Amino acid sequence: MAHEEAAKSGAGVKLVIRNIGVLLSGDLQRPILDADTMVVKDGKIAAIGREKEVDTADVTRLIDANGTTLAPGLIDSHVHPVAGDWTPRQNQIGWIDSCLHGGVTTMISAGEVHMPGRPKDVVGVKAMAITAQRAFAALRPSGVKVLAGAPVIEHGMIEEDFRSLAEAGVRLLGEVGLGSVKDGPTARQMVAWARKHGMQSTIHTGGPSIPGSSLIDKDVVLAADADVIGHINGGHTALPDAQIRSLCEESSRALEIVHNGNERAALFTLRTANELKQLHRVILGTDAPAGSGVQPLGIIRVIAALSSIGEISAEVAFCFATGNTARMRNLDSGLIEVGRAADFVFMDAAQHSAGKTLLESVRLGDLPGIGMVMIDGEVKSERSRNTPPATRVPKIVK
Ligand SMILES: [Zn+2]
Repeated sequence: MAHEEAAKSGAGVKLVIRNIGVLLSGDLQRPILDADTMVVKDGKIAAIGREKEVDTADVTRLIDANGTTLAPGLIDSHVHPVAGDWTPRQNQIGWIDSCLHGGVTTMISAGEVHMPGRPKDVVGVKAMAITAQRAFAALRPSGVKVLAGAPVIEHGMIEEDFRSLAEAGVRLLGEVGLGSVKDGPTARQMVAWARKHGMQSTIHTGGPSIPGSSLIDKDVVLAADADVIGHINGGHTALPDAQIRSLCEESSRALEIVHNGNERAALFTLRTANELKQLHRVILGTDAPAGSGVQPLGIIRVIAALSSIGEISAEVAFCFATGNTARMRNLDSGLIEVGRAADFVFMDAAQHSAGKTLLESVRLGDLPGIGMVMIDGEVKSERSRNTPPATRVPKIVK
């Protein structure tokens, strides 16, 4: 079965990546590591260090990073997948493959809400969530890990529904507020049931996304107490600044900034989080597919925007879409640490960027050129077909 094959990928392989120019850790406390070589065994990071310090004997696969910058694969904390690599929202196929070319190796569903004829009765909601969880666990489009099966809560759900969903393998709640539950007390009760049974939750924040959806203001967000304050910068209509500030100050939950949101509100959130020394709560998503379309480069566009206009170093901005999200979401990827999944993106300054290095180019607002993306130690794409061309790209030696 396909999901068993996915679990076995990379088995028996010893991969060495040498000549890494800059190694970004994904960890805000120490965003750049003093290392130029990594060893990967069976799809997991086995060693990190200088080439002389690590055991590079008996390699089965060798990659020369060619002086490029290596970061953990990017995590999109907010997507709306439906079926495989097709989205009915803008009737496109191949959108996930396009995002792989934007450095994304993991996506997290905020609800499969674009399913045509989406069921809204309780048994239908549960059946669809279990189907989405199973389908994306069995099939990784272009290798991208899509964590899906994120039911949108509806009135009438009881604790037993959350218990049975969790028992069936459902680990997420879709955006609270996209279904019939839009009031704080009911949302709080259902989010608590979900949490009790090991499911993470996200809440829609701000004005309605499309006709038929509703405003969720800071009082509902605070009352619901979901794990992730979804698109705190609006999806696309943002709350007033004072409400965003309240969410930063009065909640300890994740502050999710999305591409398909209000850019000014994104910067306001970043500056507020920075001022409050809460940057570890900032995570990134695209909120795609949506009315704004799909964003193959959405995550790197937000990183470049936050770094350049938000005046945050590029290595810190990369942590928002890697280590911060991994910790918040309990993922085994997103950080360069021994034992973690070997999901990597190799980048260099785009050709003719005013920035001399990758980090400087991002700080100046340019997108990185992506030269390779790896998932579980396997090369899934080489020179990106979507980013501006990288100055240097890694070479597969063997
Ligand atoms: Zn939303």
